[in-house]
Amino acid sequence: MDLYEHQARELFEEYGILVPRAEVADTAKEARACAERLGGRVVVKAQVKTGGRGKAGGVKLAADPAAAELTARQMLGMDIKGHTVRTVMLAEPISTESEFYVSYALDRSAGRFLAIASAEGGMDIEEVAATRPEAVVRVPVDPAVGVTRAKAAEIAAAARLPEEAAATLAGLWQVLSREDALLVEVNPLVRTTSGDILALDGKVTLDDNARFRQARWRAQETAYEDPLEAAAAVKGLHYVKLDGQVGIIGNGAGLVMSTLDVVAGCGARPANFLDIGGGASAQVMADGLAVVLADPSVTSVLVNVFGGITACDAVADGIIAALEAVRLTKPLVVRLDGNSAARGRALLDARAHPLVEQATTMDGAARRAAELAHAAPAA
Ligand code: GDP
Ligand code: MN
Repeated sequence: MDLYEHQARELFEEYGILVPRAEVADTAKEARACAERLGGRVVVKAQVKTGGRGKAGGVKLAADPAAAELTARQMLGMDIKGHTVRTVMLAEPISTESEFYVSYALDRSAGRFLAIASAEGGMDIEEVAATRPEAVVRVPVDPAVGVTRAKAAEIAAAARLPEEAAATLAGLWQVLSREDALLVEVNPLVRTTSGDILALDGKVTLDDNARFRQARWRAQETAYEDPLEAAAAVKGLHYVKLDGQVGIIGNGAGLVMSTLDVVAGCGARPANFLDIGGGASAQVMADGLAVVLADPSVTSVLVNVFGGITACDAVADGIIAALEAVRLTKPLVVRLDGNSAARGRALLDARAHPLVEQATTMDGAARRAAELAHAAPAA
């Protein structure tokens, strides 16, 4: 999970890294009040989990609280690379003397971290790396040793950063290791005209394997997620919302992905990706169906299960249980194969719901689901 800039800033501050004074707002009026508290002149920054906000109009200087309100009003609701701006951060403007790039990233193939640093920060680091590779240094970091003050000094010297940046580099390593992050990036890290080293921007990616230790961030996250994705997560389902009409449920990521392809091959667009997993029970099937049916853009649903550990009769029981719990208003095409498929099919036949059809092959099921999706108007 990526953190928002303002969350990364909050973490940096907790670890003693200097950051600009800042506040967040989700309305233009609040933005004005924040600007007043911050001294009037502020930088207004769109809070979206993507880079290059500056170039996309998501970082603007406002001369006074009225201008901050106006800028926030323009920014809120704006789309930056597919991300809607719901929050802005107001930050005190900093007079910078020079801008640097620093990050720690996991190097999976080498089984260690890499410190990446450049004295040419602020701009697009990929561009610097491509055009002037010698200006970007990479220093391996052994995770068992970490970034000691000596290591931090070595990184700073290699990248020709000012000596004072070493303390920040050591602090950023503490953020990475103590907060279970896989990436910590600051671009730009700046030296101000008064000689302080400040993090003007921050990106932190937390390791999802440590999510049980990240309640603080996860709680804030759900407020902005797709509500069905949040509901599915609560039930432990792997559900991803897509933008088509055919709801798709399968067992195993590989089968679900190929089902998406086959549905697309039949000229329809998948509405979601829902993997009920390898050992799915009737309850999991019922929960999954409830989530997919709750999506108003779904006009037909395809359940594609290849029974292995999961028995198809349990899947059929789950579908039947779901038919009791939610009123089915959309056609459902079911393809059961593998473990206990015959028993599963017989159970569904016996239930004889007018909106439930069975198909024996994946291709046949996808074709039928696509036809039904086109026949029905979206709710
Ligand atoms: P990004 O475009 O998403 O990386 O957003 P940044 O937070 O990095 O802002 C873009 C650029 O705006 C930075 O690289 C800085 O050059 C500049 N910038 C942002 N805030 C300030 C500030 O307070 N003072 C100065 N001088 N420049 C700023
Ligand atoms: Mn930046």
